[in-house]
Amino acid sequence: MNKSDSERIAGILSEFGYEQTEIEKEADLLIINTCSIRQLSADKAYSKLGVWGKWKKTRPELKIGICGCVAQQDKEKVRQRAPYIDLVFGTHNIYELPTLIKQIEEDEKVCAITNTPVVCNQNDFKIIRKQDTVNAWIPIIEGCNNFCTYCVVPFTRGRERSRRPEEIIQEAKNIIKEGFKEITLLGQNVDSYGKDFKGENITLANLLRGLNKIEGNFRIRFVTSYPSDITDDLIDAVEECDKVCKYFHIPMQSGNSHILEEMNRHYTKAQYYQIVSKIRNRFPDVAITSDFIAGFPGETEEEFQDTLNAIDELELDYSNTAAYSPRVFTKAGKMVDKFLSEEIKYERLERLNEKNREVCLKSNEKFVGKVLNVLVESKTEKDGKVILNSRAGNNKIVHFEDETKNIGDFVDVKITKAQTWCLYGEPIR
Ligand code: SAH
Ligand code: SF4
Repeated sequence: MNKSDSERIAGILSEFGYEQTEIEKEADLLIINTCSIRQLSADKAYSKLGVWGKWKKTRPELKIGICGCVAQQDKEKVRQRAPYIDLVFGTHNIYELPTLIKQIEEDEKVCAITNTPVVCNQNDFKIIRKQDTVNAWIPIIEGCNNFCTYCVVPFTRGRERSRRPEEIIQEAKNIIKEGFKEITLLGQNVDSYGKDFKGENITLANLLRGLNKIEGNFRIRFVTSYPSDITDDLIDAVEECDKVCKYFHIPMQSGNSHILEEMNRHYTKAQYYQIVSKIRNRFPDVAITSDFIAGFPGETEEEFQDTLNAIDELELDYSNTAAYSPRVFTKAGKMVDKFLSEEIKYERLERLNEKNREVCLKSNEKFVGKVLNVLVESKTEKDGKVILNSRAGNNKIVHFEDETKNIGDFVDVKITKAQTWCLYGEPIR
């Protein structure tokens, strides 16, 4: 979501005569788009601002801005830590940028943070400066209503708001015309898509069906799915639509039902297992990835073991992992007496990562000997040879050599070797 927001910010700025520079130190305007999902991400943002603040001492005309979730969360307090900042704007204020930029150009100190979105018109969505050449991000729903007890997102991104399907389909058509080969639909919980358009039968499944009709050789992905919100109709739509990748990212967070309840996740371990088996039965080569948190407040060693066992039993293809990080405004952030020590959290995280590496390798090995259709994303040179870096529909990274192929090409590749994080193969001619 941040990547997508950054593309929109870059797009708006380019309308105002700004160009992106490759050399950070030479910029006239520096904006950091921040994430506050964990303390580490927020700390990184402030340390970057510290470096920029030093530059401003010798170049007072340099303008510095901060946006994203840290800005939304800390508001004016950002200036207590970094008083030299010219511009602070929140997650709801991106479309105010044209006005805000004029204000800072006139040497005003600006802080634009609202709790409800500053409405954009449809044209605003067209000014996007894409950073990638093959994949384009399309936000379909913003915000979240779930209030998982550990998570700051509902506080920094607000309540769920879906974009109209006509608007999304038009944006996708433009993107495909521009030559992009993949679109990724984004949302904190894509399964909630359309629920705010009551009674109109606007769902993710129907949106996929609509997008699948767009002509052209491209593929469609969507992230993130909420386990208990995945409907049979969505699974049917993924099966029906040839352009939709057979890949699901379904964060489980914990393999223990008591911890899931403490997290305010609306499913049990058994329900999560049912969803995974339903999807695996339908799509043989599907990849299912997940997110897990180690060391949630009060988590016992046995409860943590349930997470390790779940990863094994479910044969998950890959998981994002994190040690629990207390967040402001959240319920779990107030469970201070149940907080685990840093040692315990990081020791569990290490075991979680070890398990992840183990199942990833196992998952990759299943594909040796199989043929996967991949999309070439980039090229690298190694020992005088050109290696094509590509991604299969199920999100597996595949490296291969083929002098006749280029970035943006779809290729059938026979997998010859598996490593923990990637596959190697040979093109089928
Ligand atoms: N909407 C998605 C997740 C968005 S946040 C979902 O419901 O799954 C991305 C991931 O960050 C989460 O899945 C979770 O694993 C992790 N995360 C969120 N808050 C966290 C916290 N306080 N500490 C550690 N990890 C956290
Ligand atoms: Fe955060 Fe839960 Fe919403 Fe995901 S579903 S963004 S984890 S509150």
